[in-house]
Amino acid sequence: MDFKSYNFQNKRALVRVDFNVPLDENGRVTDDTRIKMALPTINWIIKAGGSVVLLSHLGRPNDEPDSSYSLRQIIPCLENSLNKNITFCNDCIDENSLIITKNLKPGCIVLLENLRFYKEEKLGDEDFAKTLSKHGDVYVNDAFGTAHREHASTSIIANFFPNDKMFGFLIQNEIKSVETVLNSSKYPLTAIVGGAKVSSKITIILKLIEKVDHLIIGGGMAYTFIKAQKGSIGKSLVEEDYLDLAIEILDKAKKRNVQIHLPSDALCCKEFDNNSVSTTRSIYEIPNDEMGLDIGEDSIKNFEEVIKKSSLILWNGPMGVFEMSNFQKGTQSVANAIVSATENNAFSLIGGGDSVAAINLFKLADKVSHVSTGGGAMLEYLEGKELPGIKSIRSL
Ligand code: AMP
Repeated sequence: MDFKSYNFQNKRALVRVDFNVPLDENGRVTDDTRIKMALPTINWIIKAGGSVVLLSHLGRPNDEPDSSYSLRQIIPCLENSLNKNITFCNDCIDENSLIITKNLKPGCIVLLENLRFYKEEKLGDEDFAKTLSKHGDVYVNDAFGTAHREHASTSIIANFFPNDKMFGFLIQNEIKSVETVLNSSKYPLTAIVGGAKVSSKITIILKLIEKVDHLIIGGGMAYTFIKAQKGSIGKSLVEEDYLDLAIEILDKAKKRNVQIHLPSDALCCKEFDNNSVSTTRSIYEIPNDEMGLDIGEDSIKNFEEVIKKSSLILWNGPMGVFEMSNFQKGTQSVANAIVSATENNAFSLIGGGDSVAAINLFKLADKVSHVSTGGGAMLEYLEGKELPGIKSIRSL
């Protein structure tokens, strides 16, 4: 069903959004990208004469109510963005919430409490999904960030709307961008991966090797590759269990003619602290009492060169501890190089919570081709998996 041609007049649209936003210790939203990106869909429905019931999760509560994970905390930010009052229901399936949504008037917006206060959400429980479905007349999935999960609100619920289910604008754009990469014959294709752990990105790295021409590996995960090649990495981040796999990846890349680019130097210091004195060193010769927290100038230069020559660019994960101002240069330089390549007609796709946070921090989000709201979902889609949240809308 096509979202734009659907008649929302007097309909209650149950919209699964991804409001899993980062909060500070006072419960204030620190990055509202995901909220902002859901606005076009919500506003469209309201303008078309409908009302909206918003479904989302927030963080990883322990299958029970927990105020630190309450979606109530995002209301000021949401009301500000929509310039509208929101009704909040402090339970997503209780009698009271069902009464409120049953009597919803066109133009009104309701936000239901965190779905993950019920274990049934993640279990994809049918009865739970059925109760949730009673909140609306039509189901709109606009949560790309959870489209790779077969949860009650992202996938199972669609079964209760066989003729009234559709994607919102955000998911439509996400699908279009990933498909651009999947179907493109442009090359060279460069993937840049970074962030803390190899373990969380291993499947995609193995998959990427089958597809890309260049693979740039930075951030904390690079040290596992350096150590695997007998480098001295001091007390830098490392995953000892992945040393063999790192070598396997390097061998596999060689066989497939994929050029792997690892950092050659790193900004090293004794403490994990923005004010710790830092020295640029060869990444293979870090003293025992130091750790690498960003890539060095030589690595930046190498990475920039590769990126600027690329026609298709995928980026997931920062090059260093970009949250600290003294260790963000590597990540910022990579972001700038991606922007330059995009200005020269490359297609650039940025995904993954931290790369998105970084690109927003540097105010470059509108200078790349697409910023994805879903790190895991984007990676799984690129891996060629059929995402449950997408399949359930497409299937009749
Ligand atoms: P991920 O969620 O796996 O993408 O990891 C992102 C996190 O990796 C960010 O919070 C960065 O601060 C962190 N990170 C990046 N480079 C390093 C490094 N060299 N040492 C420690 N942490 C890092």
